[in-house]
Amino acid sequence: MDGGLYNGAVTADLIIRGGTVVPMEEDHRWLDGDLVIRDGRVVEIIEGRAEAAPGQRIIDAEGCLVLPGLIQCHVHVVQSLLRHQADGLTLLDWLRRRTLPYEAALDGDGVAAAAELGIAELLTGGTTTVLDFGTTHHHDRVFDAADRLGIRMVSGRTHIDIADEGCPSRLIEDADASLADAESIGGRWHGAAGGRLGYAVAPRFALSCSRHLLEGCAELARRHGWLIHSHAAENRDEVAAVRELTGLGNVEYLDDVGLTGSDVVLAHGVHVSRAEIGTLADSRTRICHCPGANLKLGSGIADVPGLRAAGVVVALGADGPPCNNRLSAFHEMALAATIHALRSGPRALGAWQALAMATRIGARALHLDDVVGTLTPGKAADVVVVSTDDWAMLPGGDPASRLVYGGTAADVRHVLVGGRPLVVDGRLQTAAPADIRSRVGDAWRATRARMAES
Ligand SMILES: [Zn+2]
Repeated sequence: MDGGLYNGAVTADLIIRGGTVVPMEEDHRWLDGDLVIRDGRVVEIIEGRAEAAPGQRIIDAEGCLVLPGLIQCHVHVVQSLLRHQADGLTLLDWLRRRTLPYEAALDGDGVAAAAELGIAELLTGGTTTVLDFGTTHHHDRVFDAADRLGIRMVSGRTHIDIADEGCPSRLIEDADASLADAESIGGRWHGAAGGRLGYAVAPRFALSCSRHLLEGCAELARRHGWLIHSHAAENRDEVAAVRELTGLGNVEYLDDVGLTGSDVVLAHGVHVSRAEIGTLADSRTRICHCPGANLKLGSGIADVPGLRAAGVVVALGADGPPCNNRLSAFHEMALAATIHALRSGPRALGAWQALAMATRIGARALHLDDVVGTLTPGKAADVVVVSTDDWAMLPGGDPASRLVYGGTAADVRHVLVGGRPLVVDGRLQTAAPADIRSRVGDAWRATRARMAES
């Protein structure tokens, strides 16, 4: 990087020079050369050296791997202040004893600090696009943080209208009032920041929402052309409770209320029947695989090879900071490319497939595949430059293997979104890290105090 040029300023005309470029198109080719970016878009990839125009910025990627920005289709940035404080629990206890009481204790500054922490971690770890799950109150503060820090984010406030065991009353709302609030927030933010921000309607999960609310979420989303984002079939007890309540499997019930379709992204899908896999495939419902969270909460291992074989679009995500406990796409890729060997053999889901789930397939899950997901001329220049200095990256070899099995978030050197350098030499450019640390400390102390009072 030529020095001192990127203090958060938009730089739309540049060359990423001398790296191994991995465009992540279907043919999985790669080449050594230069990536040319103009007006925030990929212009071309040139084997060898591109000629620099006067004033064109050069980012040095010598010895680095250059790939599309990573995409996670299920995260909860607002949960970031609870990280490392909800370990050793299964899903429903994790939710009822720790996570929902924490979310009920968040004020606007808490939401803002948590979002900044989550987004800073995502960006510096090479994740440039997320589908994010919000909490009940103060959701404008999440979009405000995403707007300022520069990440590409589709997000939505959550909906709960059933007093499920352990759910604090502050999170339980009138269904219609919560839908009206979602419509108002979506109206403010969908398409904002030049289309970098988008809205997704986010009912929490089947157990916390009435049928009226779930149907209302489907109606609201489809009236506006927004995505729907929820959780399904993560844990056996959850699935049993849904069956007790409705007489149906979790995915069957969501299908019954209109919450399946190509505009629906469901996190997890661990405990689904063969028939439900067929329903997901036929309806083109997207599943977001969250192996880190599924392992930590002991939820199980989703049959991702089976889902993929049935034709389901399966993306990748870290889920929440308190159930992972990191938001690293590298961690999730390594797990996805490893754990399915247990049931399906070591060829079931390899490094290229995991990398595709975190790039091209993630973009497809969000209907952003004409915008991001590959380094294709005309697409937005969302780019990650990954150092290969770490010993685990050596001596060389297949770039997907190096990235997925050898790479970590700490290897990320530069990150661009829409041609704008947001991370340079590992350092966030759009906010001062010391200020984020300070706000996170203050907000966590205040949130913890309110949790202790309740
Ligand atoms: Zn989640």
